[in-house]
Amino acid sequence: MAQGRKYILTINSGSSSIKFALYDAVNPKERFLSGKIERIGLTKPLFKATKTDRFFTADHADYADKNLHNPRNLRNPRSISFVIRLAKTHQQASGFLLDWLQDQIGFDAVVGVGHRVVHGGPKFTQPQRITRPLLAELRRLSPYDPEHLPSGIQVMELCHQRQPKLVQVACFDTAFHRHMPRVAKLLPLPRRLDKKGVQRFGFHGLSYAYLLEALKRAAGAKVARGKIVMAHLGNGASLAAVHHGRSMDTSMGFTPAAGLPMSTRSGDLDPGLVWYLARTEGMNAKQFHEMVHHQSGLLGVSGISPDMRDLEARQRKDVRAAEAVALFCYQTRKWIGAFAAALGGLDTLVFAGGIGENSPEVRQRICEGLEFLGVRVDRMKNKASAPVISRSGSRVAVRVIRTDEELMIAKAVAEVLRRGNSQ
Ligand code: ADP
Repeated sequence: MAQGRKYILTINSGSSSIKFALYDAVNPKERFLSGKIERIGLTKPLFKATKTDRFFTADHADYADKNLHNPRNLRNPRSISFVIRLAKTHQQASGFLLDWLQDQIGFDAVVGVGHRVVHGGPKFTQPQRITRPLLAELRRLSPYDPEHLPSGIQVMELCHQRQPKLVQVACFDTAFHRHMPRVAKLLPLPRRLDKKGVQRFGFHGLSYAYLLEALKRAAGAKVARGKIVMAHLGNGASLAAVHHGRSMDTSMGFTPAAGLPMSTRSGDLDPGLVWYLARTEGMNAKQFHEMVHHQSGLLGVSGISPDMRDLEARQRKDVRAAEAVALFCYQTRKWIGAFAAALGGLDTLVFAGGIGENSPEVRQRICEGLEFLGVRVDRMKNKASAPVISRSGSRVAVRVIRTDEELMIAKAVAEVLRRGNSQ
């Protein structure tokens, strides 16, 4: 890495993964390095990293030999991946990451760290500098999102222990939806729960904020203020209905388990199932939670895999895979129709996330049947995952945009640092 350069580190902790990236602190559009630790808490946790500016140093091979087994791709040092010996918890995985980064760049060169925080509850709607009181508040919020918040807090605490002087910033994935109309936030439950914060919050906000900026860059401010449905379809999947540049509704709810079927989450369900399964299967609340978060969605319906690529490959041979793909496309189409109704029309449909960006088949099947709204997909453009995949002259512009949540985090850190310096 270049001498004297300063970096911003972004950390995005998921339920079993940590994604990270390094950006130029002055011009955060420039990304130098990105990577991911996958399978935290499972067998063979995997570390992957890619450098965009230059090769990994030879030191890296020494480091891998010392601490890792099964290092792979070390002869192709722009991109590496290997199995980590110890990543049972997010704390261990992030400890490994910080050691590795120290060897690669040295922490003196890092001026700030930004974390994606999945749930900000009712209070946090702007990026915040992480302080002791903020961590205490996040701990209090943990029951809102036991899947993500406790492990995310572990990572923030470890960063503070290792680098106490480093500025750390929390970026909330719920913030994009803070101005949704009250009617979209209300859940039809007894009022006292609303007062306790039981509302629709919505997630994937960093992704939606990026997509809206990218849409404005690509198609202009007028289009970005129009009636837009954005589909972030990754392992977690959601839709956002946006108008005048603001979120008007979104498919995820109080937790990210609501809305569309996802890789392992169920999405919306009949609430009567809780009691039915308790009576007929003796299922308790924790088991129900486990089922709807980790054993449902694509994995549950197919019984094969949570990964859309596996299911696309198997669907012609295995009816269970075919049904899982069909259900995903059908439900997504239904939600797009619902959001077009909520917006009173549709000008732009955006696909993003691992599935939305890379699967022409899923995009095609979601759009089939939406012709009545003016959605008409061009097969060749869709196959090529072109930036615009609708036919020319089609009433609704259908776009594919590669999302970048990490960039939004890096920009938020740069902004907090700028404000800090000007105070
Ligand atoms: P996360 O929500 O964990 O960030 P991603 O956005 O990376 O996940 O999306 C992961 C999903 O994208 C997986 O289901 C994967 O199968 C799917 N995916 C990635 N590439 C393709 C592809 N070429 N075709 C179909 N699905 C794909």
